[in-house]
Amino acid sequence: MDICNDCPGYCCYKKNGAYLLITSLDINRLARFFGINDGDVRRKYMANRHSLKVRKDGACIFFAPGGTIKRCIVYDARPDQCRSFPHGEPCPYLQD
Ligand code: SF4
Repeated sequence: MDICNDCPGYCCYKKNGAYLLITSLDINRLARFFGINDGDVRRKYMANRHSLKVRKDGACIFFAPGGTIKRCIVYDARPDQCRSFPHGEPCPYLQD
């Protein structure tokens, strides 16, 4: 979406009560991206069984703030939930 180029990456920050659902397929895709095994992805990047770690400010561990492009450092291997966002709806972060 072109409109994403003007967004600071709101959808890559964890909101209270929300989480990014990571599936075993997502984990395997990330493992192949990094050239490591699925267990290593779980140990290094997962906060719990179904969610990625976030930084102190709530940003996804794979989010590189500051730039306007290539902010997801695993873009080609990003999880399905990231790929489908905003799920055919207008972006909820950019309303008003
Ligand atoms: S994996 Fe990439 S696209 Fe998905 S939340 Fe993290 S930084 Fe954003």
